[in-house]
Amino acid sequence: MSQFTLLVVEDEEAIRSMLVIVLQQHNFNILTAVSVAEAQLILEDTLPDLILLDWMLPKVTGDEWTRQLKSDESFRDIPIILLTAKGEESDKIRGLDLGADDYVTKPFSPKELVSRIKAVLRRSGKIHDLTQIKFQDISLNTEQHSVKIGDKEIEISPTEFRLLKFFLTHPNKVYTRTQLLDQVWGRSTYIEERTVDVHIRRLRKILAGYQRESWLQTVRGFGYRFTEKQP
Ligand code: CA
Repeated sequence: MSQFTLLVVEDEEAIRSMLVIVLQQHNFNILTAVSVAEAQLILEDTLPDLILLDWMLPKVTGDEWTRQLKSDESFRDIPIILLTAKGEESDKIRGLDLGADDYVTKPFSPKELVSRIKAVLRRSGKIHDLTQIKFQDISLNTEQHSVKIGDKEIEISPTEFRLLKFFLTHPNKVYTRTQLLDQVWGRSTYIEERTVDVHIRRLRKILAGYQRESWLQTVRGFGYRFTEKQP
């Protein structure tokens, strides 16, 4: 089961296809865009765990978009790896100065790229290793399908597990029922929106056993948000 969603922004078809194949083999979920404009549309309904961003793109370039994303509160926490044919040390420094989390020079080996991606995901803080997802004192193991709050193992069913996993990896932002349906159940599943409410209630009940129910907040008229900050 894939755990992380990567957004690949690359205008060259051959490189884009290669990246998709390699990254899917490593169980990443992949979204692709050929331009910054297309990538921005994707960000409107999906927050990827990491962006692989080509430097040389038509119109808005990768370095320019990095600067924009890193100055935007909604997106600054998404790690960015810049891909570039430029091997110049000065460009590398510039990319990192702009806030990119790492920098990979083309041509790169798939193995190197994957290990850089994993390193950046680990450094991003939420992830200790690729099977552990952590938010405050809640930790979730995607291999064992287990969840701990503090040092207590909790009982959780598969749907609530997926919902919690989504919230732990996408905290502090409001999601509509439609977005939760798409992201947790998948776009191809037909489920009524009120089913989301049912599972939210169940998850909240589980969290209530550990005095964490206030972290799963209803934002009236919009949807739900997971945060330790109280409104
Ligand atoms: Ca390019």
